[in-house]
Order: sequence, then C-alpha cells, then structure tokens
Amino acid sequence: MSFKHNFNSGPAAIFPEVRSQAIAAIENFHQTGLSILEYGHRTPLMYGIIEEAGKLVKKLLDLDDDFEVVFQAGGATVQNYQIPMNFVAAQQRAAYIDTGWWSKLAIQCAQEVSEVVVVASSEKDNYTHIPKQFDIPADAQYLHIVTNNTAFGTQWQEIPDYGLPLVADMTSDIFSAVRDNKKCSVIYAGAQKTAGIAGCSIIVIRKDFLARQVRTGLPYLYDYQAAIREKSMINTPPVFAIYTMLLTLRHLDKNGGVAWIDKINRQKADLLYKTLEKYPLYRLPVQKQDRSTMNVCFSIDNQTLQDELLAFLENNGCFGTKGHAKVGGFRIALYNAVPLASVQFLCSLIEEFAQKHRS
Ligand code: PMP
Repeated sequence: MSFKHNFNSGPAAIFPEVRSQAIAAIENFHQTGLSILEYGHRTPLMYGIIEEAGKLVKKLLDLDDDFEVVFQAGGATVQNYQIPMNFVAAQQRAAYIDTGWWSKLAIQCAQEVSEVVVVASSEKDNYTHIPKQFDIPADAQYLHIVTNNTAFGTQWQEIPDYGLPLVADMTSDIFSAVRDNKKCSVIYAGAQKTAGIAGCSIIVIRKDFLARQVRTGLPYLYDYQAAIREKSMINTPPVFAIYTMLLTLRHLDKNGGVAWIDKINRQKADLLYKTLEKYPLYRLPVQKQDRSTMNVCFSIDNQTLQDELLAFLENNGCFGTKGHAKVGGFRIALYNAVPLASVQFLCSLIEEFAQKHRS
C-alpha cells in the first residue's frame, strides 16, 4: 500500500508509534494474553490507565491540582449539553461567542437546556475573524468560546480573560500549542483530532468552579461530581479510545510535551500559509491575526480548477483536503500527528498546480 498523506479534519492522523502500540494492545494487552477489546474495565490495569491519562492531561496542559480531569464517551457535543446542565440554573444564563459552525452548535445545544446570551458573532463577515470587543452581562455564569474553529479556520491565539469563568471547547487544538490554560474554568475536547481517536472526550474542570455547580437533581450520568467520584467509570468507559489517547499523551510527553509539538505545528502552518500567499490563484479568507495553525482554509474562484486541484492532490496521495460541507473550498488539517514532511509534499503540489495555471 502506498503512503497516504492524511489531512483529514477528524477523525484524523495518529502518530505511527501510537498506531503500532494500539495494534499491539488489540493483539495482547499488557502481556495479559487478552485483547484490550475484551478486557474488563473495573480492573487495576484500567484504573491505572485512566489515572495516568488524567495526570498526563494536566501535565501537558500545565495545570496543577486545582483541576479535575474526567473522560466520557459521547464526543464534545455531549459536553455542549452537559456544561450548561451542570453550571446554569433556572433564572441564570451563560454567555457564548459565535465564531462559526461549532460554536453555533454549542449555542443550540445550550439553548435546549438553559438560557443563553450570544455576546458577539462574526457571522456577517462569514466567520473570517474572531470578535474580541463586546459586552458581557454581569449575571452570565460563564463565557463559552471555541478555541479553534475547525470549519472556518480561525483560532484564538491566546486564551482570553474577560473577568468571568471561561469554558473552552478545544476539540480541534488541545495539546497543540503552549497557552495559559489556567485561565479556563472548563476545558473540553473530543480526542479524535489532536489527542487520539473518536469515542472519548476529555473534560477538565477547575475545582472552585465545580464547587459552584448549581443544578441539583441532574441525571446521574450527566453529573460531573458523580463522574469525578466514580473515576470516569459511572458506566463502561470507551476503554480503547482512552488507551489510544494515553498512548498519544505519552508520545507527546516523551518528545518534549506541548512546547515540542507547538514548534512543529507553527512550522507546518507557516509553510502552508506562505506557499498559498505566493499565488493569487489561492484565496485565503481568514484575517491574518486569527488564522488557525490547525485548519488552513483556502479556495480557488474557478470551481473547475478547484475540482482539478482536489483530484491532483488525491492522485498524489494527499487525502482529506476538501473543505467543510458548509464552507466549501479546501481545508487542510495540520493536527499534531501530521508530519512536517507531508506538509512539505503538499506545498510542492500546491506550487506545481499554481505554476501550471498561472494567469
Ligand atoms: N467542537 C469542535 C471545535 C469540533 O471541531 C467538533 C467536531 N468536528 C465538535 C465540537 C463536535 O465533536 P464530537 O463530534 O466529538 O461531538
């Protein structure tokens, strides 16, 4: 099988070492003679894996014991419901910033279970930037942001501080850049982009915020206090997804942590943006200061040429470059496990195509 360059936006590339170790665990998990797929979850081995994963999440995010970590099935979308269910009571409300598809979804989910105020939106500018000036009502329980907008290719370059608890959906950029994560009261992410495979969400909650949990009588399964008490085992956890995430976290840690991957991620993004900027054929819609290092979006005005480039990339082994269904064009995911060499190769194809179609 020829090598494939994987630019999928999620599920996405995983590190080759992680893939090999995950395959080995499917064959024979920790020399038990059983596959991880058939291994009991309420066992010392699995409790140990969950504990180690929790510790590594905190280490890599540079968080201390002021934070709790839990893992749950159901993806980030479940957290879009569960956060307001836990932290916004009747007569209270939460503030949200609309920076595109995934923040819109978070808003819609929250509206089903609580009162929401959308304090800013870049929708009228087709989500080409991140709004930063706005008023937040004094009674908002928290401010919700999506740190990286997977569909439109915008990203908060720093964790903001607006003077109220911050809830951050980091599904498409957790562990990808050095940031001051301590500014967040809640961090959540599906693991399938920068931290492993689908099936497991990481939820980090600051203890003082958790103590303010306002709703009582929550369904047990959706109560964060219960999840913490039960060490992420209210019911059968997504064992294999948690294990694959642990392998990914170990790999990051062993190589120098987030600082190591941050440097490589910046190199990849710089190279791709600079290559695209060289040619007027390519349109880069996102304002420079808000460009994402994780998802690079661009388009070509001429649809026929766009289709031609897509085919050219695929014929050369570059997959997953098509833009989000709601946005069109191209979207290149440069997540942690995408090698610099794949981006260099992609850039050479992008150059070759532009030179061939120079007007
Ligand atoms: N938030 C962001 C930023 C995303 O990119 C995605 C998935 N692409 C989600 C939330 C939804 O995640 P899940 O499918 O794990 O529910």
